[in-house]
Amino acid sequence: MSVSALREVDVCVVGLGPTGWALAHRALRAGLSVTAIDPRPDRPWPPTYSCWVDELPDWLPPSAIATTIPAPTVWTKTERRIDRPYCVLSKPGLRKALPLDDATVVTGRATRVVAHRVEFADGAMQAAAAVFDTRGLPSLGRRRAASAHGIFVDAETAAPMVVDGEGLLLDWRPENGAGPDEPPSFLYAVPLGDGTVVFEETSLGLRGGMPQHVLRKRILNRLAAHGIRLTGTESSEAAHYPLDQRPPRKGEARAIPFGSRGGMMHPCTGYSVANSLTLVDTAITALRQGRDPIAELWPLRARLVYWMRMRALHGLGRLTTEQCTTMFDAFFSASPRGQRALLSRHDDYAALGTVLFDMVAHTWPFHWRYDLVGWTNRNRWLDYDFAQAPVSAARR
Ligand SMILES: Cc1cc2nc3c(=O)[nH]c(=O)nc-3n(C[C@H](O)[C@H](O)[C@H](O)COP(=O)(O)OP(=O)(O)OC[C@H]3O[C@@H](n4cnc5c(N)ncnc54)[C@H](O)[C@@H]3O)c2cc1C
Repeated sequence: MSVSALREVDVCVVGLGPTGWALAHRALRAGLSVTAIDPRPDRPWPPTYSCWVDELPDWLPPSAIATTIPAPTVWTKTERRIDRPYCVLSKPGLRKALPLDDATVVTGRATRVVAHRVEFADGAMQAAAAVFDTRGLPSLGRRRAASAHGIFVDAETAAPMVVDGEGLLLDWRPENGAGPDEPPSFLYAVPLGDGTVVFEETSLGLRGGMPQHVLRKRILNRLAAHGIRLTGTESSEAAHYPLDQRPPRKGEARAIPFGSRGGMMHPCTGYSVANSLTLVDTAITALRQGRDPIAELWPLRARLVYWMRMRALHGLGRLTTEQCTTMFDAFFSASPRGQRALLSRHDDYAALGTVLFDMVAHTWPFHWRYDLVGWTNRNRWLDYDFAQAPVSAARR
């Protein structure tokens, strides 16, 4: 790395995950000079990224999508098709759609990231009119987590549960071997467009998350319930990250946190990529017009949405499997606008408030409402000892 002599640029992007890559690309397209920094800028992004198709910005070409599921399935007490196309992104396609040819890409790890400068361990420094901090999420600790264990299965083996063009977005069927006194998790299973299907058991909202071995056992139980046996040689992926990375306060940020680092990780879904891609132009336009990107990205209505989603995350983290199933059943009966307000929209606070209120108001038995709002069983799964999980969850 030799950055000590680099000239000052308009924009410095620190971290080249999908968010930083998109921000650097759109800044270049807007005619700004850009330096982007990452310890391994050419490393393929590890996770599989998915989203609703209508969440993606118009400027992104269709080649960024690997495969589309026109109407994904949700299993609660019954099977439901959601009439809203969902997609798995193509990581090579996404990168190709975001060329950084005119940027200076620096291979290095930033040690200090502040308003107008970025520093490195060897004393080198990059100055910029605006610095965006896109270094992703800090480590989890005891924060509220998204935990998932994913197994990649060839399409033929997966066929009894998932076929091409279809996908299980949320599967709450009681097939994972977890008892009623164990923290809940659901199955997510989608074809990836490359002849494989990922089966991912997912837990949302538990403090410190759910261990990988528990999630794996639960997937194997589900697959066995459908007659699917694995060889044990299938590759896998792990997710374990915080869901409560809040938006920057005005005047608090020294550099501009953006993407998952800047409050764009959805507290209830664990998704951030599509939302971050969509908000890139808001940040760049604000910069070009001399306005504060944080104020433009986070008006009061977006902060209200974030606050309500955090309340929902806290609720989610204390429910039982039976309560989750009932709650998601109610949610997927809500209006399309209400569903989108919770799942996708950055600032539709009125629809979000309505859908959350309705879900609590229609919860039955009545006393479950107290769990939802946290008057009872507030810390139901806090310090749950997974080592003591009954054998029912360990079947294989
Ligand atoms: C298994 C799994 C499945 C997932 N599925 C989805 C999904 O379907 N949809 C979705 O939206 N999200 C999904 N996620 C979450 C997803 O990982 C994040 O939403 C996304 O990666 C956030 O992008 P980002 O650019 O903000 O941060 P990151 O992708 O974390 O990128 C941060 C970048 O910063 C760099 N960096 C870190 N420190 C420094 C430093 N000091 N100096 C310079 N660079 C630095 C890193 O090298 C990295 O390249 C999933 C996560 C996992 C683990």
